[in-house]
Amino acid sequence: MPPPDRPIIAKRVLAWYRRHGRMLPWRGETDPYRILVSEVMLQQTQVDRVIPFYERFLERFPTVEALAGASAADVIRLWGGLGYNRRALFLQKTAQAVVARGGWPKDVDGLQELPGVGPYTSRALAVFAFGARLSVLDVNVRRWVQRVVFGPEWGRAAKDDAALQDAADALVPRGSYDWNQAIMDFGSAVCTAKRPACVSCPLATVCKARPAIERKGMEITASRRKKVVPFKESQRYVRGLVLMLLRERPSLAVPALLTSLQQRDRGITELRVVKALTGLAADGLISMERGRIKLP
Ligand code: SF4
Repeated sequence: MPPPDRPIIAKRVLAWYRRHGRMLPWRGETDPYRILVSEVMLQQTQVDRVIPFYERFLERFPTVEALAGASAADVIRLWGGLGYNRRALFLQKTAQAVVARGGWPKDVDGLQELPGVGPYTSRALAVFAFGARLSVLDVNVRRWVQRVVFGPEWGRAAKDDAALQDAADALVPRGSYDWNQAIMDFGSAVCTAKRPACVSCPLATVCKARPAIERKGMEITASRRKKVVPFKESQRYVRGLVLMLLRERPSLAVPALLTSLQQRDRGITELRVVKALTGLAADGLISMERGRIKLP
């Protein structure tokens, strides 16, 4: 059952989007392959960083068939610098599955059966490529729905994914493509985590969270802050350096690799390198042969 405020929420958000929406290379795209590439690259990565990688990747692998038939090493090389390299292999596995089944599934359930495609990506594909009237819940949209629909009850809603998804789906007007693009921008630019712009927000009169935010100050977002490990102390850092060295050479012996890494950063211990190599091999990002390491 759509909430009574749906028409007014849709009208105001879409009007805001027409004036303030960002121009992005994947906006308006309906090719599922190109949408998949953008969605995978945008996982845990800022939009501005993704854009040049997105364009370069599609230039090199313009179709799902081109990516499916490439060598894994070429895909990992091209991904260099974007981080979270496992995404490159997942993306290629998805492409190979699509080619093997002779085309794309067109609904959420079918899409979710593809390797590497989870609930979020399957919805993004269903909406942007196949016109499903659903909501795509990224982190900004989640927060926005919690606030607008649940207001002070947001804490309970945050724990109930199904309730949140239902509430978000009930808000989708006709034209779900633009709507989903609009709320993603709205959530990241207006209804931000720490400083929601309630004073100038076009939804101020219909938002259930606004009175509570004004009473308590800006902080209504549930944030149990995790202890942040400095990047240079993380295993991601060592893994990234290993792949960077392998992108430049056909292969490397383990002792030479260790020396190169320690020349770059003395804080990298042998134990950290061994852990990184074990993890990279388990993820299929490197292969080891007779003491030498290379891209797969
Ligand atoms: S009024 Fe405030 S909390 Fe509500 S949607 Fe607007 S910015 Fe977000």
